[in-house]
Amino acid sequence: MNLTVLGSGTSVPHPHRSSPAFWLETSVGRILLDVGPDAPHRMAEEHLDWPNLDTIWVSHFHLDHFGGLAPFLFSLKWAPQTQTRTRPLKIFGPAGLKSLINAIDDANNYRLFELPFPIELIEVAAKVKFEILPGVVATTTKTPHTKESLALLLTDVDRKIFGYTSDTGFTEEIATIAKDVDLLVMECSFRSNKPIQTHLELRDVMRVAEQSSATKLLLVHLYPEWDGVDLVSEAKALRQGEVCSEIIEAVDGLKLEI
Ligand SMILES: [Zn+2]
Ligand SMILES: [Zn+2]
Repeated sequence: MNLTVLGSGTSVPHPHRSSPAFWLETSVGRILLDVGPDAPHRMAEEHLDWPNLDTIWVSHFHLDHFGGLAPFLFSLKWAPQTQTRTRPLKIFGPAGLKSLINAIDDANNYRLFELPFPIELIEVAAKVKFEILPGVVATTTKTPHTKESLALLLTDVDRKIFGYTSDTGFTEEIATIAKDVDLLVMECSFRSNKPIQTHLELRDVMRVAEQSSATKLLLVHLYPEWDGVDLVSEAKALRQGEVCSEIIEAVDGLKLEI
């Protein structure tokens, strides 16, 4: 698998960090993980094959993760690159996905589902296992962030394991499901003294990392308070033992092999 960071930032406008979105290329297809408002144009900027995207994963409905979905469907409807496509696009997300996107569609008769190819909306619960792509198995875990928010764990056809917490507060459960992941993409919203419990600060991140025994850790969802801070050094200073051989600060455009 190969990961491209489309957006390492948050909802807060930032000169270098777009809103959350990640492109995961597997041997059997392409997955977009979260669709921040900047995602459609960021995919084009990274020269990714967005007209042939197979699957979208929506972790929760905060607009920094979901706000680009309706505009992306609108662009797929009209883009010259998609007019001959027939293969469906599958969109997986928590319960409420269908009613929310339908409400946006109905609000102005956008007809977002009248595309040259079918769109399949699939709602998934926590603690379920499903095929997100043929042979790629996904597992969901409830996270303490919003009532619907889910973390995702993927096992590729070649047995590589990828984890994406998206936004979350601290929970032992994340560490449990992320056991032995090859790459764990984890939010690291705050440096310390986090103002709310529904996000992580660096100390929480390192606790999860230690318990998960992830090989590589990619820190994302970075608020502007991280600007000019050496995040990786601070993370290593909090590290106990030999967990995570690699800790990486996400930047937009970063590409990683898993
Ligand atoms: Zn967010
Ligand atoms: Zn959120």
